[in-house]
Amino acid sequence: MNRKFSWTVALLIMLLGSGCTGKKSDKSKEQDIASLEMYVFDVGKIQVNDISQLNGGEEVKAPVYFTNTAFLIRHPKGDLIWDTGFADSVVNHPMGEVTSPYYSTMEKTLSSQLDEIGVGPDNVKYLAVSHKHPDHSGNMSLFSESTIILQEAEYQALFESETPGIVLEGLDDNEFIKLDGELDVFCDGTVVVIPTPGHTEGHQVLFVNLPETGPIILSGDLWLFNTGVRSQAVPLFNENVAETSASWEKVQALLREKKATLWVQHDSEQMLAIPHSPKALH
Ligand SMILES: [Zn+2]
Repeated sequence: MNRKFSWTVALLIMLLGSGCTGKKSDKSKEQDIASLEMYVFDVGKIQVNDISQLNGGEEVKAPVYFTNTAFLIRHPKGDLIWDTGFADSVVNHPMGEVTSPYYSTMEKTLSSQLDEIGVGPDNVKYLAVSHKHPDHSGNMSLFSESTIILQEAEYQALFESETPGIVLEGLDDNEFIKLDGELDVFCDGTVVVIPTPGHTEGHQVLFVNLPETGPIILSGDLWLFNTGVRSQAVPLFNENVAETSASWEKVQALLREKKATLWVQHDSEQMLAIPHSPKALH
């Protein structure tokens, strides 16, 4: 689909609100929800040598390790990948890629982890990334057949920028859903994209309601680690501090309302305790 037509999709979403139309029986909705599953991928590790940049200037001398995590949600209406990790090419640099004060390594490619569970990138219906930074959007170009879900501001920062910061080759014909708000992706409340500007202008998080694990919110970089959730310190690299604070409040209210658990994608302690692919979470 060309870019012109993708505007039509965006316009329809705006006109229809959630983009959800048509009636579906409660029973068939329940069946869809019961069969929802999610896979968790390790898509890199980040050694942060100067954590003071990320905890509002508070000094911590020892290096801190962040996980980098991506997720595949499998719904009867199609697969959705949430974040894509570093570009798979980082795996070729066993000593890591250094962008001071960060030191990034990757043991397994996202492609190989998808292959392990029998999923080809061409068959992934939706691609949504929390934001434009390369630890989250580095592998977008693997998904040349997916419908890409982004907030309008992040679409502009990636696809209308001279310096997007990541490889976007092969994405010329993708369909886009450009949002200025939420999207209930499968129209049953199980997978909802929620705008949370601040870290970047078009940052978003993902609400997922798994049948056994329960409701969770995948953080993107709204928070970088659980220490930051507790201290409420805004990282020094952040596009809009006031918006970040407002997004924190909004998501914390949603966590309470939905009785949901926050999954902080870069938090090593929390992420390493969660079973990873090829095991599925239900
Ligand atoms: Zn990140």
